[in-house]
Amino acid sequence: MALREQARVTDVARVGDEVRVTFDGSDGSESLLFSHVVLATGHDWPEDPDHDPGVFVSPWTGLMEAALPATSVGILGTSLSGIDAAMAVACQHGRFDEDAGGALTFHPDPDASDLRLTLMSRQGLLPEADFWCPIPYRPLQHMSEAALDSEVAQGSDGLLDRLWARFVAEMAAADPAYTEAIGLAHLTPEGFAEAYFAPRLAADPFDWAKSNLAQVERNTAARRVVEWRYAILRMHEPMETMVAHLTETDRERFDALKRVFIDNYAAVPPQSIHRLLALHRAGVLDIFALGEAYNLERKAGETEVQAESGERRRFAIFIDARGQRSLGIADLPFPSLRAALGTEEGPVPMNDHFAIAGQQGRLFLPAAPYLLSRLPFVQGITASHDLGEAVAEAILAGEP
Ligand SMILES: Cc1cc2nc3c(=O)[nH]c(=O)nc-3n(C[C@H](O)[C@H](O)[C@H](O)COP(=O)(O)OP(=O)(O)OC[C@H]3O[C@@H](n4cnc5c(N)ncnc54)[C@H](O)[C@@H]3O)c2cc1C
Repeated sequence: MALREQARVTDVARVGDEVRVTFDGSDGSESLLFSHVVLATGHDWPEDPDHDPGVFVSPWTGLMEAALPATSVGILGTSLSGIDAAMAVACQHGRFDEDAGGALTFHPDPDASDLRLTLMSRQGLLPEADFWCPIPYRPLQHMSEAALDSEVAQGSDGLLDRLWARFVAEMAAADPAYTEAIGLAHLTPEGFAEAYFAPRLAADPFDWAKSNLAQVERNTAARRVVEWRYAILRMHEPMETMVAHLTETDRERFDALKRVFIDNYAAVPPQSIHRLLALHRAGVLDIFALGEAYNLERKAGETEVQAESGERRRFAIFIDARGQRSLGIADLPFPSLRAALGTEEGPVPMNDHFAIAGQQGRLFLPAAPYLLSRLPFVQGITASHDLGEAVAEAILAGEP
């Protein structure tokens, strides 16, 4: 095995039965031929060559190393990355203390009285706290692999409606009381998403976070499973494998349900909620719900954010923490590969083993950002393991 460190791959091109990889290394540009190439390029955070000290294009583009003043900081994104960004700034200007009962208090430094963090998103919702549940997962009754295979075999037309019927049946079996209370049998996927988020949208986000955290901690202590949450969690991965089979219209309809699944699996550790609540109690953290049509403008060294409601807020520092965006052909940093695909439009076409179409099974792209359009929940090290396994199987099988 050979390892090339500090080498940036600049191009990949098929040459007959092989693939040429060109890279910039310490000795300049070089290229090598391989029988197979796996482009496991991972997360893609935007670069920021003309860095404006008041704007961070992602939490992973200089923020962690930057010394920031205690000032007004706007963070776009209320999920994991937004929370990481808020903590990175808060911890530069104060400390969290835990009392004997486990309650956290944030103490800002004496010179940090101007520190104000604002987390922003369209809905202005915080993630909920991780709930207690059995792992490995209990098997599903209505969404087994065999059941889903048979749904796919019946074709893409009407597939989402058939999957929705299975979702409803699974929820009814797991948690009849919740299913009845929310009227699931009479809801569409879109209607369910609305009913799911409605109570949270009607509540103050910090009040909701406090009571959700208390509920999670009570349930964890009692080893009590909230069955409807657990059923949604167990269904998200089987449902994800169905997305590639949905018609264009159904993929759009699936977006509402996708938000529910993401909200469910992207719950955060209870300690993160404790920290957010402590920052809020200290008067340092606030949430700003932007609505669908909001506007961002950089003005006189500040970022002005105007929400759909018309309310405007200005921030000396602005951090874009919206997480990984979906990438497609136009984003591939390899010109020969882009040219070989014949278009700059749309997602990179791939088979189930992540072999890029038209490359004779020689080139694989198991990189999450390029897979999001077909695997909307792909993330994390366990997913990396599954992607690697699928690629290895295809290479060993030698099938183009
Ligand atoms: C802040 C943060 C916290 C996370 N926490 C968790 C967690 O708790 N649990 C979990 O399961 N997952 C977590 N993840 C996700 C996890 O890091 C990823 O799922 C995982 O790293 C993906 O592995 P990978 O090998 O596909 O890509 P990466 O680990 O991203 O590796 C890709 C590699 O390819 C290199 N590369 C890219 N382009 C080129 C090029 N042109 N030339 C040469 N080299 C190139 C990169 O430099 C990098 O070394 C977290 C991610 C982030 C950002």
